[in-house]
Parts: sequence; structure tokens; C-alpha cells
Amino acid sequence: MAFSTLGLCDPVLQAVDERGYTQPTPIQQKAIPLILAGKDLIATAQTGTGKTAAFVLPLLERFKHSGKLRGKRIRALILTPTRELAVQIEANIAAYSKYLDLRSMAVYGGVATEPQQQRLITGIDIVVATPGRLLDLAHQRAVHFDVLEVLVLDEVDRMADMGFIQKIDKIIERLPDVRQNLLFSATMSRNVRELADGFSVGKVEPAAEVTISPDVKAAPSITQWLITVDKDTKSALLSHLIKEQQWDQALIFIEKKHAAAKLVSQLEKRGITADSIHGGRSQAVREKILADFKAGELKYLVATGVAARGIDIGKLSRVVNYDLPFKPEEYIHRIGRTGRVNEVGEAISLVAAGDFKNLCAIESRLNHVIERREIAGFPVRKVVPVSILNYVRKSRPQVKATPSESGPYGKAVGKIRAGKANKNFIK
Ligand code: AMP
Repeated sequence: MAFSTLGLCDPVLQAVDERGYTQPTPIQQKAIPLILAGKDLIATAQTGTGKTAAFVLPLLERFKHSGKLRGKRIRALILTPTRELAVQIEANIAAYSKYLDLRSMAVYGGVATEPQQQRLITGIDIVVATPGRLLDLAHQRAVHFDVLEVLVLDEVDRMADMGFIQKIDKIIERLPDVRQNLLFSATMSRNVRELADGFSVGKVEPAAEVTISPDVKAAPSITQWLITVDKDTKSALLSHLIKEQQWDQALIFIEKKHAAAKLVSQLEKRGITADSIHGGRSQAVREKILADFKAGELKYLVATGVAARGIDIGKLSRVVNYDLPFKPEEYIHRIGRTGRVNEVGEAISLVAAGDFKNLCAIESRLNHVIERREIAGFPVRKVVPVSILNYVRKSRPQVKATPSESGPYGKAVGKIRAGKANKNFIK
């Protein structure tokens, strides 16, 4: 299918062509016609599928001849969980709208409000915002929503994880009732579903729903593998891999911000130049480091999950879970940074014995075990058992195996639930 069949005007098609996109991705093929038809949309699609263009291009089409806005007014609002993502989406809008007379801007916290207030005075067609700063600006009457036509909620599951649902509700209360709603989320949790259902209230037509590859197993361009490792040899193993396998680039996820700085210095002691982004660094520093990483000037970036949320690095070849994330969804988000549209990538996880439950949860979600590779010179003292794939995480200490857990691993799963994994689980 060609972009030209989607009903987009020449200036937009030309900008898309200049980005080097030859054909629309599946989410673009499905979502663009629905959005152009004015429908509400609930899309399950993760970053890396081309979802940003899927909602941005129809917005440009809609507003291309809209004329001048009154002061402090906006036509479309895109809410997004992080500053980095807001900046990135706005950069995409600017690129796709380069042949149109439209204004866009990103609004986010961690920087002075004054310049953002100043820019809003003239009216902006498309505002990309993080919820907290947008609410602040709304309270200060720096932005009015009375002519808003479209609301886009991007990465809603992340916004829910980050505790933004209340803020989103407060923002929605301020918007006109008649508007188009577009919701994008990598996963459909209860919170997300509730928010989506709220959009249907009072509407004649229910929102259209589109789902694109919710499972990583449907993204064959990402090679996933893991290495079991003892906690105290993790940084030595990482340095070894970087050098031995001559990694050109890696985005390395780590749990805690103080550990990020420590890992950077451990790598540097072994002659590897790296840097880190985490919540403790200023916005300006984070942006600079990210820009260096994207430009290839910085090859190894250590990031906490929060700091790296949603960032899109065109040709990222590799992500590393230095620490395995707690939630399977987070794992899926992280590995989605690589193997983006038309690219291949690898996702490598360092798994220590203490990560066993997280590994079970992740592999159960993937519905397959991740390939294990051994690295010479790094024998493991504490063995990580092979997961059982119908693992359900329970916080209660003692849970009996359910009937569905009958069969060869029934009792074992019950024990994993009870936090009593032992060596007998090794298949
Ligand atoms: P997103 O899922 O929006 O974060 O996009 C992931 C990456 O895919 C970005 O680097 C986009 O520039 C790129 N992209 C979006 N649409 C296309 C397309 N139709 N063909 C090739 N790359 C695309």
C-alpha cells in the first residue's frame, strides 16, 4: 500500500517521502483512514510501530486550512508521559508539517514556564504536553481549550503507571465535550480500559478499536537472549560483552539512579566511555546526552526506565536489561526501543538468581522462554532455574496450585507463587 492512497495532501506526502518512508506501517494503514473520517480511536500499539505518524498525519490534514487561532487557543492536545517523548513527538510534527502553515510546540516540566506561556499567547495548532505542566499552565490561564477539536492520549499505560490518571481526568474536565478522542497504549490494563470507556459516554458511535502486534513474539526483528550472571559480576560481564562482541551501540537499562552513575564509572575504569540519564539529572543535561547518543557520538547510554520512557532512537541496534524490569510490560516497552520499523535489533538481559520471579513473569507474558547464552569466563555460582510459563505473580505468601496448574509443573508453579522456587524446577 502506498501513502498516497490514504487521503493525505501533497505537502504531507512530500514531507513523509523526505523522511524516507516508502509505505505506511500497519498501524498507519489502519488508523489514518479512521482518524480522517473523524472517528474516535482506541489503538493498542507500542512505540516502534510508527504510531506517532499514525495520529500526527491526520491531524495535519485536518488543520491544514484552519486559519488563524485566537490567542492562547489550541486545536489539538497530545498528552504524553515524559518530557523526552513530548520533545520527540513535537520534532516529528515539525518535520511532517514543514510544507504547511501550522504551529506546534512541546510543553513539559523541569524548565521555566515563562517561555512556554509566551509562545502560547499567539495560539498553537498542536500542543504536545506532559500532564502536570499543562495543568499548571491551564491554572495560570496561559492556555484555553474552548476551540480544541482533538485529544490524543499517547502511551496511556505508561501515564497510568506514572500516576497521571487523575491529572488526565482534570485536563479532560476542561475540554469541550464535542471532540475527537484518540487513545494509544502498548497494553490495555483496567485503568486504560476505563479511560477508553469514558470516551464512549454520550457518543452515538463507539470508538473504533485497532490492535497492532501486542506481543513481542510478533516482532521477529528483535533477537532476544539472556545471560545468567551473579550480581557481583554484572558490570564485568557487561564490559566484557561490549569489548568482545564489539558493540557499536547500546541502551542499557538499570533500576536505580545511583546505580546508573556507579555503572558509568565502572565501565569507564575498564576503558569504556558511557554516560547516564536518570531523574536526578537536569532536563538540559538529559537532552544533551540523548542528542549525543542519537547522533552516535555517545555509544553507551545507561538509563533508568523512567528517564528512557518512549525515547525513539532511529537505528538503535541493541538494548540491554542490566536489571530485569519488574513488570513484563516494561520489558516489552524496553526491547521495543530496538528493532523499530524496518530495522533489526537485539535485546539482551542479564539475569541473576534474585530475578527469577521477574523472569518467570516476563517469559510467561511472551509465552516462550528466552534463549540463554553462556559467556566463557563467567561461570555462575547461583543458578537461575528455567521458568515455567504459566506463572502468575502473587503477593500473598501461600497460594495453592489451581486446577489449571495441574500437570507436570502444577506443584512447582504453586511453589513459585509462594516464593519457594527451588532447583527441582529446572526442566
Ligand atoms: P513510533 O512508533 O511513532 O515511535 O515510530 C518509530 C519509528 O518509525 C520512528 O523512528 C519513525 O520515524 C519511524 N517510522 C514511522 N513511520 C514509518 C514508515 N511508514 N516507514 C518507516 N519508518 C517509519
